[in-house]
Amino acid sequence: MVRLFLDQPLAEREEAALSRDQAHYLSGVMRMSVGDTLHVFDGRSGEYSAEILAVGKRGGTLGLGQRTRPLQTPPDLWLLFAPIKKARTDFIVEKAAEMGAARICPVQTDFTNAERIRKDRLQAHAVEAAEQCGGTYVPEVTDLTRLTSLLDQWPADRQLMFCDEALVRETIAHRDDRGLAAVHPLASSDSGTDALAPWAILIGPEGGFSEAERIRLRSMPQAARVGLGPRVLRADTAAVAALTLWQSTLGDWR
Ligand code: SAM
Repeated sequence: MVRLFLDQPLAEREEAALSRDQAHYLSGVMRMSVGDTLHVFDGRSGEYSAEILAVGKRGGTLGLGQRTRPLQTPPDLWLLFAPIKKARTDFIVEKAAEMGAARICPVQTDFTNAERIRKDRLQAHAVEAAEQCGGTYVPEVTDLTRLTSLLDQWPADRQLMFCDEALVRETIAHRDDRGLAAVHPLASSDSGTDALAPWAILIGPEGGFSEAERIRLRSMPQAARVGLGPRVLRADTAAVAALTLWQSTLGDWR
């Protein structure tokens, strides 16, 4: 069944307009026509069955039927990551949407190579990922922001899972005497046991974090320094590994 995100409030037995691109996707790409059915969701109220009432080159109209699924919002988890090469950045956004990040925040760190991002393109990747994975929520992709600016106004109640590649050396050095908390600091985090607690994950760029950033992050009471095993992962792998670790420990996989 085709699923489409419509960025407008939807309700049972109402009509909804299709944009030119959406009409082209349904008729030109999926070869659908009047009378065919699909599922639509608005990211606000859930998913609905829909029938194509009209479709043409410039747009179209859907007739909505029953609500098929309620809105399922993800945990209040932000993914902060330093943009890398285009395809790998696209991958991070797609996977973050699939894995249940509520907000995706590209950040410029001391060693970030990218000066700008195409926010509209990244947002489109998040939409496609939600359509594909059966999600009823689309995470917002924010503007590229300097990490220091974000940290300057960091909310007191939002915990920060700071994925620090420097822990690779420590993990290897302490292989024999590590306890659960050393391997998996989230498991011992009191603040995170509340399912509603706001959290963020921070992944650095290919060049890793600068010493200044590391000192700043380590001084923050909200930050938990977390290692992702004894190997240095690429940033895109690290993002997926961190989301997996967080979701299975504190998030909606439990
Ligand atoms: N150039 C850095 C180095 O050689 O140490 C590696 C940076 S890594 C490619 C990119 C980001 O992924 C890091 O800044 C960190 O956030 C995360 N990362 C990768 N492997 C990690 C690990 N084993 N533990 C914690 N974070 C890791």
